[in-house]
Amino acid sequence: MSLSIPFDNSFARLEGPLFARLNPEPVAAPSLIAFNAPLAERLGIGGAEGADLPALFSGNRLPEGALPIAQVYAGHQFGGFSPQLGDGRAHLLGEVVAPDGARFDIQLKGSGPTPFSRRGDGRAWLGPVLREYLVSEAMHALGIPTTRALAAVRTGEDVIREAPLPGAILTRVASSHIRVGHFQYFAAQGDMDSLRTLFEHTRARHAPDAETPLDLLRATIAKQAALVTRWMAVGFIHGVMNTDNCTLSGETIDYGPCAFMDAYDPRRVYSSIDRFGRYAFAAQADIMVWNMAQLASALLSLEADDAVALPAYQAEVEAMPTLLRDEWLARFGAKIGLAAPRAEDAALIGRLLEMMHGGGSDFTNTFAALTDGSARDEIADRDAYDTWHAEWQARLASEDGAQATMRAANPRVIPRNHQVEAVIAAAVAGDDAPFHRLHAALATPYGNRAETGWLKHPPTEHEAVTATFCG
Ligand code: AMP
Ligand code: MG
Ligand code: MG
Repeated sequence: MSLSIPFDNSFARLEGPLFARLNPEPVAAPSLIAFNAPLAERLGIGGAEGADLPALFSGNRLPEGALPIAQVYAGHQFGGFSPQLGDGRAHLLGEVVAPDGARFDIQLKGSGPTPFSRRGDGRAWLGPVLREYLVSEAMHALGIPTTRALAAVRTGEDVIREAPLPGAILTRVASSHIRVGHFQYFAAQGDMDSLRTLFEHTRARHAPDAETPLDLLRATIAKQAALVTRWMAVGFIHGVMNTDNCTLSGETIDYGPCAFMDAYDPRRVYSSIDRFGRYAFAAQADIMVWNMAQLASALLSLEADDAVALPAYQAEVEAMPTLLRDEWLARFGAKIGLAAPRAEDAALIGRLLEMMHGGGSDFTNTFAALTDGSARDEIADRDAYDTWHAEWQARLASEDGAQATMRAANPRVIPRNHQVEAVIAAAVAGDDAPFHRLHAALATPYGNRAETGWLKHPPTEHEAVTATFCG
């Protein structure tokens, strides 16, 4: 019996130079690390019990109906424009339409070179594959829009990074892989036919009510404003917010050098390649506005008269900071128990964050402790905290259900960097048990403290992870 995937490959049917058709490159000895059975069920994939999952999720055997492609796109990387990027180590096997009608891409990542590999080897090593599996599934459990992980396999081959490392392939599921960089590519090429094709496809898929490119921009800005503030509300630092890592679906994509903050610091950077802090924690909202401005310029070229259309596009981008402020207030208001925060509550939230920053409080644990009534233990300046606490309690007096609001907004279990690193080290040594344990714990991030042994910041300085790497 074989895996039955109900493919309907709408992107691969599009006319024009939007992708290259090619198969994944087979690997030596694939073995399964993880298969996400609940996700497979959600997608309407059947027959997994009897199927050769290692062969299927390594690309060694194509499932029936797959039509593999590598997509082409461009992107601003750290502010500089790269006119051609594309899937350099990924093959989109095809799309499935789930039983509820939702459409998803199924993509292998690390599955071999493509015409867009440039100098890369087309492969991935085990560490980033496990990190993406854990963190993307954790984001999903946190209720944050994200690509997901359907499977992870070892390839049985080494990949060469700083040293030979075990190779692996991730199967990624996304409502699409269409990025801001896709639009930039065709706009920069002056290929208006392909840009129009891409617009029509994206509109139908992600913003069916959008009739014009301007409508699509507005819809995308709303999604991305919601997304980036959701990241910030859980202390997530994406780390590589290049426009090729920014989706039209509003899902988080690319878990390369990402990290959840331990001690709160708005300037925090983990990515080893983000040398100037462009993508620091608190910079993420502004960067998302910048990314949306790049989408606006690309979409603008679809207009018959750019000059006439420009002010309307500018107005959408200029309205985004207000949207971001509203979303931020809603998210952080909930974290202190305010289901309907008012503009003046921003100062109360800001003072708490300042105290946390001043004393190096753990971001996740402080808000979890706020829910439990023990936040005083997390703040170094007790006097300042007591003053704040009195004001906070006075404000909460007129609120119903503050406890429930906080419980739903303040996770206890997040993928801590030192835990993810420990999982990777064990897996490199051949032990996948820690991966499975952490994966299980991350499924219920809002659970009770008693239910988890995971509510920890790095126990020693030695164990604290200060930098994350792509790979
Ligand atoms: P990223 O920094 O992960 O967003 O990747 C930027 C670009 O580099 C994308 O076009 C990737 O497909 C490509 N890329 C990253 N790693 C590799 C690799 N090992 N082989 C080929 N292309 C890669
Ligand atoms: Mg990327
Ligand atoms: Mg990446």
